[in-house]
Amino acid sequence: MSASDRLSPCARIGILGGGQLGRMLATAGARLGLDVVIFDPQQACPASRVAAETITAPYEDLDAIARFAQSVDAVTYEFENVPVEAAREAARHAPLRPGVKALDVAQDRITEKTFLNENGAPTVAFRRVRSADDAKVGTEDLGVPALLKTRRFGYDGKGQAVIRDVPAAANAFVTIGEQPAILEAFAPFARELSVIAARGLDGTIEIYPLSENVHADGILRETKAPARSNKALRAEASRIAEAILTALDYVGVLAVELFELEDGTLLVNEIAPRVHNTGHWTEAACRVSQFEQHMRAVAGWPVVDPAPIRKARMINLIGDDVDAWADWLVHPNAVLTLYGKRQTRPGRKMGHVTLLDD
Ligand code: AMP
Repeated sequence: MSASDRLSPCARIGILGGGQLGRMLATAGARLGLDVVIFDPQQACPASRVAAETITAPYEDLDAIARFAQSVDAVTYEFENVPVEAAREAARHAPLRPGVKALDVAQDRITEKTFLNENGAPTVAFRRVRSADDAKVGTEDLGVPALLKTRRFGYDGKGQAVIRDVPAAANAFVTIGEQPAILEAFAPFARELSVIAARGLDGTIEIYPLSENVHADGILRETKAPARSNKALRAEASRIAEAILTALDYVGVLAVELFELEDGTLLVNEIAPRVHNTGHWTEAACRVSQFEQHMRAVAGWPVVDPAPIRKARMINLIGDDVDAWADWLVHPNAVLTLYGKRQTRPGRKMGHVTLLDD
């Protein structure tokens, strides 16, 4: 990385996607003097109200994507389901960080697991499923319970079915909408962990302490960091994260979701080529948050030791949980973040609170 690769502090960074992640990235960027331009199909998306500028158009509008990318110095994205065509178009006009390959890999569960296994990151055993019969044969092969998931566009536990016996396999295929799918062996995990890692334009890698995560109904509820861990576990998580970042020639922050088995083995559940809900605690408890680290990388600035300074427990405020916001405001250890979403819906992430030294 030479000094000329570094964007100036008044540079304009484009973000594809304007949800809460875009909002927190824009806020972190603004503190460093960067102007953020949001591209999102929805007007008044959470990020638009803190960004320097917003372009409202569908991702399929490649002319709008081109104009957006031409108006900024670098482009990034805040969610992994950005249509690859839109990302490719943006990359024709400005550096796209991270690149298209990370999206390609993360958008398809079979491509993702194949990529992970080829790069020394272990996962559960899996089978490709195109029919009810594939689901049945795969279940006989992998054993029960098994999980059937759509290959694409699954998030927060959507598009998934648990198969508890072989005869249920065909029905599970119907439940997920008879779409191309992946059948996964069930991981008998003791804990769910994640690691947030960053890679700079010069290849420098920095890794945050492991987070321990609790999900319910497929949605993250809580993260504790740093997770209880020994040196071997930390070394293995770092090895996996580094292997993935390097193989993708990645620039920016990436999250690796992990299953820890009883014997300490780590399996990768999935990767997210973006800042991640299990890294929200870094904003309140580290010198450099995942959001700042990502903006640094995208701007070609140094990524650095995040220097965690506090222990943290992050609680997602989902749906009506957000009604307690005024109580959190006066809680002595709480750092409250609200996403500015005007409508509360069940299952919708409305904000989060990080309890320090809890
Ligand atoms: P996903 O959308 O794939 O991240 O899955 C959401 C949640 O379902 C995970 O965080 C786990 O709690 C659970 N899960 C997903 N895949 C598996 C698996 N193969 N074995 C056990 N639990 C799983």
